[in-house]
Amino acid sequence: MNNFTDTYKDKGARRLLVRELKSKGIIDEKVLAAIGKVQRHLFIHNDFRHHAYQDKAFPIGEGQTISQPYTVAYQTQLLHVEPKDKILEIGTGSGYQAAVLVEMGAHLYSIERQEKLFLKTKKLFSDLNYKATLLLGDGSVGCESAAPFDKIIVTAGAPKVPQNLVNQLKIGGILIIPVGDEKNQIMHSIIKKTDGSLEVIPLHAFRFVPLIGNQAW
Ligand code: SAM
Repeated sequence: MNNFTDTYKDKGARRLLVRELKSKGIIDEKVLAAIGKVQRHLFIHNDFRHHAYQDKAFPIGEGQTISQPYTVAYQTQLLHVEPKDKILEIGTGSGYQAAVLVEMGAHLYSIERQEKLFLKTKKLFSDLNYKATLLLGDGSVGCESAAPFDKIIVTAGAPKVPQNLVNQLKIGGILIIPVGDEKNQIMHSIIKKTDGSLEVIPLHAFRFVPLIGNQAW
């Protein structure tokens, strides 16, 4: 069995995960379908392969983690993804969240600051034939050259909302970002209204690794 095998056991475990996420309040069928497709066991270290479909975060090296599937589903649901949406993700990490967005038809840009993770995920995306623009750098300043974006998702905890990200959002666009201190953050949904003002909606509490960079910690 090579590392890219998707066994009946994996498929069954994914179905159970989808059911668990539904029971935890995820209702967007497109999000659930994407979670049901992405082979999470390929995005984590082989040591955790048999736990891949538990609703848990796992270490991915460099002191970073692959987010818990519930967190990925929760943030993705808030993005209201439409096919061809131009989406910027800050914090590529394992690439799992990115793969879910690509499965939903997003035109994805994703930035990672850790070179080892960036290179590993770039290779995995190429091996799996997932099309996305993966970039190495400080995502707290966004990606001016590809802006504006329909949606922006930040998958690390920020001390504040980076102004660059707000500037790079289209009118009507949505920014999903956990904001708080280093231990606890509140998920924020931020919508850029027609007059350019922001509707800021604080939601539930989460715990992410820190967003580190020029407009972050
Ligand atoms: N979306 C990831 C996944 O599905 O595996 C979650 C990864 S982890 C919770 C957050 C990631 O954000 C880490 O890989 C970390 O290196 C990265 N990160 C932190 N600050 C960053 C920054 N300023 N720019 C880009 N990536 C950053």
